[in-house]
Amino acid sequence: MDPGHKYAEVYIDIRSLGIDHPFDYIIPKSISNRINTGSVVMVPVLNRIEVGYVVEVKEKTRVEGPLKEIKDLVDIPPVFDDDRLKLASWISSYYIQPLTAVLSLFLPPGRKSKKTLESPGTSHKYMTMVKMGSTAYDSCDYLWKKRKAQKKIMDALAAGGGSMEKNRLLEASGAGSGSLKSLAGSSHIMLDEKKVMRDFRYDKAAPSKQVVLNEYQKNCLKAIGDGLGSNEKFLIHGITGSGKTEVYMNICARVLEEGKKALMLVPEISLTPLLYTRFENMFGDRVAVYHSHMSPGERYDRWLEILKGNVDIVIGTRSALFTPLKDPGIIIMDEEHDPSYKENSLVRYNTRDVAAEYSDIKNIPLVMGSATPSIETRYLAGNRKGYALLKVPEKAQNAKKVERILVDLKKTDKRKQDQFITGELYRAMKQELDRDNKVIIFINRRGFSNFVVCTGCGNIPQCPACELSYNYHRDVARLICHHCGREEPYTGICRVCGSQNLFLAGSGIQRVEARIRQVFSGIDVYRMDSDITVKKKSHQTIINGFSAPGKAILVGTQMIAKGLDIPDVTLVGIINCDGMLALPDYHVNERTYQLITQVAGRAGRKDKEGKVIIQTYRPQAGVIQHGMDEDYESFYKEELAARRELSYPPFTNLVNIIISGLDEQAVEEESKKILDKIKRDIKMNTDILGPAPAPFYRINRYWRRHILLKTKDIKELTKLLGESLKSYRKNKDIRLIIDVDPVWIL
Ligand code: ADP
Ligand code: ZN
Ligand code: ZN
Repeated sequence: MDPGHKYAEVYIDIRSLGIDHPFDYIIPKSISNRINTGSVVMVPVLNRIEVGYVVEVKEKTRVEGPLKEIKDLVDIPPVFDDDRLKLASWISSYYIQPLTAVLSLFLPPGRKSKKTLESPGTSHKYMTMVKMGSTAYDSCDYLWKKRKAQKKIMDALAAGGGSMEKNRLLEASGAGSGSLKSLAGSSHIMLDEKKVMRDFRYDKAAPSKQVVLNEYQKNCLKAIGDGLGSNEKFLIHGITGSGKTEVYMNICARVLEEGKKALMLVPEISLTPLLYTRFENMFGDRVAVYHSHMSPGERYDRWLEILKGNVDIVIGTRSALFTPLKDPGIIIMDEEHDPSYKENSLVRYNTRDVAAEYSDIKNIPLVMGSATPSIETRYLAGNRKGYALLKVPEKAQNAKKVERILVDLKKTDKRKQDQFITGELYRAMKQELDRDNKVIIFINRRGFSNFVVCTGCGNIPQCPACELSYNYHRDVARLICHHCGREEPYTGICRVCGSQNLFLAGSGIQRVEARIRQVFSGIDVYRMDSDITVKKKSHQTIINGFSAPGKAILVGTQMIAKGLDIPDVTLVGIINCDGMLALPDYHVNERTYQLITQVAGRAGRKDKEGKVIIQTYRPQAGVIQHGMDEDYESFYKEELAARRELSYPPFTNLVNIIISGLDEQAVEEESKKILDKIKRDIKMNTDILGPAPAPFYRINRYWRRHILLKTKDIKELTKLLGESLKSYRKNKDIRLIIDVDPVWIL
């Protein structure tokens, strides 16, 4: 090998080859001073030329035998730097995920293996601007007499300041495109094609207003401002409307003044259009939005703009964390407790913890905001050095009081009363609709497996070892714990009170919708859930329909709990709070508390009083009581004590290993082998539960089992586990998923 050469470790983005390591290439002398970490290069692979990414430049190579040369350097700034590479390798080791898969998070979106970076998968969109031409427009000119439609266009154009986008002009003038075409042949107008940056924007504009920060907000700003340039973490605990977003915007302004950039993460951008609009009003086109609902082309455009340094604030969902934003000065996470910050598909990671790691690597603050902080974050904020708890206890603007009513479903007569729309809920709905107000009805997410609840005493059978609800398996007539595998026969009789009226819960939103349409015929009913809103803007269409003046009912799942701000909603009903509580997962109390708070927050905004009706079989449960009282601290204390008692996070970390395959027998055998292997290799104090059938035991023809690990030293555990599984030769027909810090254990 030529000693004068340098070498580059190049990662090639072709997942199909199933390769999980970079390759060494010789750097030709002609480009050697321009190749750095993150450089994008063209390299020969198997008789083809592919795009590759330099992960390291080095003087020596350990590869023996002939090496190929880098063919070319693509002329764009490096796509990652050492810090982002550090973050990638942290993710890879902490979450036990292949580095190649992790790196792909950092690469330009929407590309597989294209030859250059400048040719994304989708074409650009153009817009046509119409401008006044060289002949001055005189509306009194005789020639317009016979060209009425064309005159309309000219008038509208003049009124619009002499330059308008084509479609808007046609709309404003009421003329057809034929008239525009004829006009375009004259010197009265000019057409100008412009490449547009594909964007995602709601029509609903929020007027920008100057607010004077209150004392709480000033305190937050001061504390965070003092933390700039350090890796301090902040939790802003404040109810919806307490002015957190105002704090975010002000701290961003401060960061920008210092010449740095800001990253603003939100759980789901489509649910927070106002947040984006408010930032846009304050910062104009220095803000870019970036999220997974954008088309690949849109995302690609944005990504490139960010890479080129043309963007100062990126607002986006979890993937925005990996955009190549240079020199960030702060990371802000709104609604930090939201489970959608957890990525569960390609590479499993929790955005919150990755953001915390990046905050350490870059030495910049991480600001987390929530009305209902996750137990983990609240715990850290109160107990860990380097974490600070900031409280914003009041609404920034006066709002009307919300009345909260609990309906005990045990006391309703099953034969006489509807279990969805109880008498109490029906009367309240009718009253509000008669006053031309709007009603939101919330029903838990659908699709979860059945659980059993006694309608006599409200008892939900639980596994004695895990204190998590049993799942009812109809086929074998047994109650099975999906965590540890413990099971008992299903007798159809309540153990606590002997009642035979056991209720197999699990009815979906569509059933409720049909019922409401039947009971309130003639009233507009909208439904919103993830089945309906897959299309990009249908979500907004539903909201627009529901927001239109007059009475209406919106029935929705989890999706409607967030971000909706519709002034005329005076009643929110929660059909059944218990579905969530009965899920076999230790997060259930936390999720239920968050849900009650969020859903209740939809009622009684601004000028109207609101009412919340919560229907439950367990009105005495602490989480429901505290949720009703909006008493987060009491809830937190109670929940923390329970978590401590059962050694759940934040006192431990969990790792869920999911083993699945088409052959039930093979899955069972493989699970046992993996368990043996883990038990042999992991020589540290770890609780190992299972293998048990996963709560979704069979999905899409795949049988699923899981092993749950609980540890007080997650770093050590993931290290040992990573090593153990690396040397494990698994049955090639079996899929293995490792989920570190799972947000659901389902
Ligand atoms: P959050 O993000 O906590 O839900 P926002 O920042 O959106 O709260 O504030 C809620 C509303 O109160 C917004 O309309 C905002 O403009 C307004 N607001 C926030 N801070 C103030 C303030 N100091 N004075 C007056 N209005 C404020
Ligand atoms: Zn009972
Ligand atoms: Zn159990």
